[in-house]
Amino acid sequence: MHTTWYLSGARLVTAHADIANAALVVENARIAAVGAAAAMAPPAHARALDVSKFILVPGFIDLQFNGGFGHDFTAQPETIWQVAQELPRHGVVAFLPTIITAPFEKIQRAQSVLQNGAPENFCGATPFGLHLEGPFLNPQKRGAHNIAYMRLPDVSSVRAWTPQNFVRLVTLAPELDGAREVIRALCENGVVVSAGHSMATFEEAQRAFDAGSAYGTHLFNAMPPLDHRAPGLAGALLNDARVTVGIIPDGIHVHPALVDLALRQKTAAHLNVVTDAMAALGMTPGKYLLGDFTVQVDETSARLEDGRLAGSILNLRDGLVNLMRFTRCSLSDALATITATPARVLHLENERGDIAPGYFADLVLLTADLRVAATMVQGQWAWHDAQELAL
Ligand code: ZN
Repeated sequence: MHTTWYLSGARLVTAHADIANAALVVENARIAAVGAAAAMAPPAHARALDVSKFILVPGFIDLQFNGGFGHDFTAQPETIWQVAQELPRHGVVAFLPTIITAPFEKIQRAQSVLQNGAPENFCGATPFGLHLEGPFLNPQKRGAHNIAYMRLPDVSSVRAWTPQNFVRLVTLAPELDGAREVIRALCENGVVVSAGHSMATFEEAQRAFDAGSAYGTHLFNAMPPLDHRAPGLAGALLNDARVTVGIIPDGIHVHPALVDLALRQKTAAHLNVVTDAMAALGMTPGKYLLGDFTVQVDETSARLEDGRLAGSILNLRDGLVNLMRFTRCSLSDALATITATPARVLHLENERGDIAPGYFADLVLLTADLRVAATMVQGQWAWHDAQELAL
């Protein structure tokens, strides 16, 4: 039985609203009512909670997340549920477990892990399905992926990639032979297709967008730099209003000034902060796995032996705060990039990423200095800081 909650007194901030002294009723995993506290009495059967010292915001959604807390999803897809239980401490209520370039058997294993469902008594972030980053990538922009598993796009191998089979998003290099057929096939399946790890020209990228690709994976990383005579994939992603771009604002993957430029150009509705976090997230510096490779992690970054970046150790709450610091944008805009925008990318904008009646009760309480005090996933408190809030 779900508890009915009445939360009152918080400042409520979403991509579209900023309301002082709001109140909210949560019933059966969803938001039943929301409005000004003065105009809303608690339902008789509800548990009332005074949250007046907090900012109430929609839960965070990470579309690119390779693992964390010591576990790598590509090496061990079985750890997805275990890691998902840790994510609410960073305000994350939903995510796409990301499988980097790997043999198809590995992808199937990850699909089965989601197919088999959550373990009993699971309370954690919801995996919406996989982000398959590969294997149709350009070896010239391999990043920390294993070239041995890269291959040319081929429609026959993606027929079973559907949201029903737990594939939500596929990153591919649109300049590869066969890419446009695969983009069309995946879009027909309801899968979001992203351009990334690519040497595509501006024109090749535009043709991919025309074919239905609507997202760009970690803008500026694993693609040629923005060149004013040859704008390439980066220029095409910035330029095309149909496309949403992922970006990693850890201060290392992209210079803060270009994060600012990207936000101005794309606006919060088409900029999506992702972490691209790997196994070392939440751990001490040392050596960790990313797919087949051992990655050296220090206080701020994760790198292969030759210095190439291999994912990040950013958490999504810090991504939110960094974005505000790099761009001086409002909390509402920064929140959009990790709530309403990723929900819309996944076609879930009618029930995720906002605080409105009928939406899933995926909520975060932030302190005045924007630390995560508590996270609710589908009506259940998945994590809370006992120093801040007694439940
Ligand atoms: Zn990547």
